[in-house]
Amino acid sequence: MQIAADKVVSIHYTLKDDAGTVLDSSAGGEPLAYIQGHGNLIPGLERALEGKSGGDKLDVSIAPEDGYGKHDTELVQRVPRRALQGAGEIRKGMQFQAQTPQGVRVFTVTAVVGDMVTLDGNHPLADQNLHFSVEVVDVREATTEELEHGHVHGPGGHHH
Ligand code: ZN
Repeated sequence: MQIAADKVVSIHYTLKDDAGTVLDSSAGGEPLAYIQGHGNLIPGLERALEGKSGGDKLDVSIAPEDGYGKHDTELVQRVPRRALQGAGEIRKGMQFQAQTPQGVRVFTVTAVVGDMVTLDGNHPLADQNLHFSVEVVDVREATTEELEHGHVHGPGGHHH
């Protein structure tokens, strides 16, 4: 079966940056399962997988525009420490979820200087070229329920 819209696809993948450093990998764990054509994956990866079948292997490099986006300086904010009351001790690398006009975003603390905290709402992989090595493990039809929910149930997907 070929990968096309509404198919449930299981993949093993390794993601590297421009320097060849492994950023993420499914190796040694369950394959990642997703529904093609529902925005579950970054656009560049979905596009590269379209038409592939179980057993296919591919290497694909994805520019930021088709990955996690360009770094947006408007998503970088400096706020006084007291604005984050209840979060405990604020340290670099901490993450917070916050409601924005574009929906819920994850903000990462990128600096703490004196009483001021810098929060960055960009994806940690924004502005990065992404180099994926992918092996297609399985392609199957989605169930009606999976299509209604917009995500995969069972191995590699949601359990509920
Ligand atoms: Zn569900």
